[in-house]
Amino acid sequence: MNQRVALTPFGAAATGSVLVPGSKSHTNRALLCAALAEGTSKLSGVLFADDTEAMLEAVRSLGAEVVEHRSELILQVTGLGGRLRFNGSVINSRSSGTTSRFILPVLAAGRGPATLDGSEQLRSRPFAEQISALRALGCDLRETRAPGELPLDIVADELAGGEIEIAADSGSQFVSGLLLAAPLYSKGLTIHLSGKPVSRPYIEMTVKVMEDFGVNVEQPNESTYVVHSGKYRATDVDIEPDATAASYFFGAAAITHGRVRVEGLHKQSIQGDIQFVDVLQQLGAKVTWGDAFIEVEGDRIRGGSFDLRDFSDTVQTLAAVAAFADSEIEIKGVGFIRAKETDRLAAMTSELAKCGVDITETANGLVIRPDKWLLRGGVIETYDDHRMAMSMSLIGLRVPGIEILNPDCVKKTFPDFFPCLEHLRPRPQQRSKVVAVVAIDGPAGSGKSTVARRLAADLNLPHFDTGAMYRAVGVAALRAGVDVEDADGITKLATEAEIEISDRVFIDGVDVTEEIRTQEANQLVSVVAANAEVRRVLVPRQREWATGLGGGVMEGRDIGTEVFPDALLKVFLTADLSVRAERRFAESSGLTLGHVSEDLKRRDEVDSTREDSPLLVAPGAVIFDTSGLSVDDVVSQIATMFRALVDD
Ligand code: C5P
Repeated sequence: MNQRVALTPFGAAATGSVLVPGSKSHTNRALLCAALAEGTSKLSGVLFADDTEAMLEAVRSLGAEVVEHRSELILQVTGLGGRLRFNGSVINSRSSGTTSRFILPVLAAGRGPATLDGSEQLRSRPFAEQISALRALGCDLRETRAPGELPLDIVADELAGGEIEIAADSGSQFVSGLLLAAPLYSKGLTIHLSGKPVSRPYIEMTVKVMEDFGVNVEQPNESTYVVHSGKYRATDVDIEPDATAASYFFGAAAITHGRVRVEGLHKQSIQGDIQFVDVLQQLGAKVTWGDAFIEVEGDRIRGGSFDLRDFSDTVQTLAAVAAFADSEIEIKGVGFIRAKETDRLAAMTSELAKCGVDITETANGLVIRPDKWLLRGGVIETYDDHRMAMSMSLIGLRVPGIEILNPDCVKKTFPDFFPCLEHLRPRPQQRSKVVAVVAIDGPAGSGKSTVARRLAADLNLPHFDTGAMYRAVGVAALRAGVDVEDADGITKLATEAEIEISDRVFIDGVDVTEEIRTQEANQLVSVVAANAEVRRVLVPRQREWATGLGGGVMEGRDIGTEVFPDALLKVFLTADLSVRAERRFAESSGLTLGHVSEDLKRRDEVDSTREDSPLLVAPGAVIFDTSGLSVDDVVSQIATMFRALVDD
């Protein structure tokens, strides 16, 4: 068993096309209908994972015959045609909510004693709503441990069905289970939903699958479903790719500003979670809806408020995406997901907070106030919830130091999740435009210069310090007596001065290596760099400089955003202001720590708010908080990212 998995950020746009496994929800509904039907059904594109293995085992213990063709993702199921006899059978639903809630009403339709049980996790999930509905219909049910929980002993006596009212404001699986069993009841079943139902698309999926197997569900009004007594007929079914599983890859495209296609999905999907794509679109992503694929292309992520009541399994994906947004994202309508595999609102809040995200739990959702500068890695607890592992992995696409504990919990619905995610790491040959540059941006004191120099040496690549160019122009102004506020004068200097940067820095042949680092030069340089005309002169020179030498490691403030947006790898270094001040203080003389800190704050402010080329985290760049890390650590982690992108 894997104890943990450490993720290596992409630092470039995720690209490619993925095949996600079959839908868990579709597989488990089709498996059950096929098991209850008369004749042999063929299910293609089946998901093989813990939750569907649980259903497979359950339908076998009911007496259905299943022939497996695992490598082709096919199951041939010969159903029972309605004969359900038990003699103390024990059904173990493992951790599968759908298996347990779909099987229980089916057991009630048979005859004889049976027990329904599951993992400790499932035992602590709620069943009271379904138990009381079945009791009201006359079923003999007994909880052997705690009221409203598994395990349950049932003495089945061919429940006749009838009419019930059920609250669907805490989950839809109870309703789906009762609908699926309804045709087996001699009087059929009429279900009245009370309260505002959640996850209604899942009820619609149940109705659709029942129809595929020849059973009609009438819906005289919004809150009533009528199923007559009848029989399921065997049929062949193509299981759709899992839309929730797809959400992680669409999320990866959004977060890395990449372009990702998921095969086999389309607008007419029976899965409500397809609506996650609309949310990404509203956040600014570009979406292409194909007949047999959906493609998402990421862009800057806007803020907004979203009600995910109907597709709540994507809440964690959206919360992860929100960590990279430009403004606040609110997720609402999903208080009921506290009773899923874990309290998903509490779990997401604590794990994202660990990564530096400002996140608040509300009564029915989450509020995320993102600030990309503050993101950092962490060791992520997964609470035995596959969706915690998969969603938090998305943070690891752009933030180093993310380690996912108990990653094997993804086996519940997506055993190959990690290799599939890795498949999106962009290779240079797959990218339409790519420049062989490692772009390193970040505020003063973040460690840029030291890291960039060392990285270039380790990778045996040229190093380009663009800050030295702006500093050189500032010093040229000092020497020539030109006021830095004289925009035209400075531009003229920048245009005419011959600046040479190698191990040392020369202006018109004069060595100014030390002079450009003085406090006086520090004061001038932000003003020089905020001059748009100066940048128009220097940026093309920086491009020529790097391309002339076949690429390398280039550091600055706008390398990933302006100079080389198509850099092979983009990194944004940050560190706490206090850490940055300490670093600069150690290098400076005659200044107090307070002065250094104030000066840094001022430069951050000027650099990140200037109109032309402000200091921003470049789209898709790795956000690397270097506080508390040694230069060796930072360099070796960036080198690992670099090699992951270029090595085959
Ligand atoms: O990196 P360094 O601190 O030497 O850069 C000095 C100043 O030059 C920065 O504070 C910033 O104002 C400016 N600069 C820039 N764009 C770059 C590099 C540096 O605006 N690419």
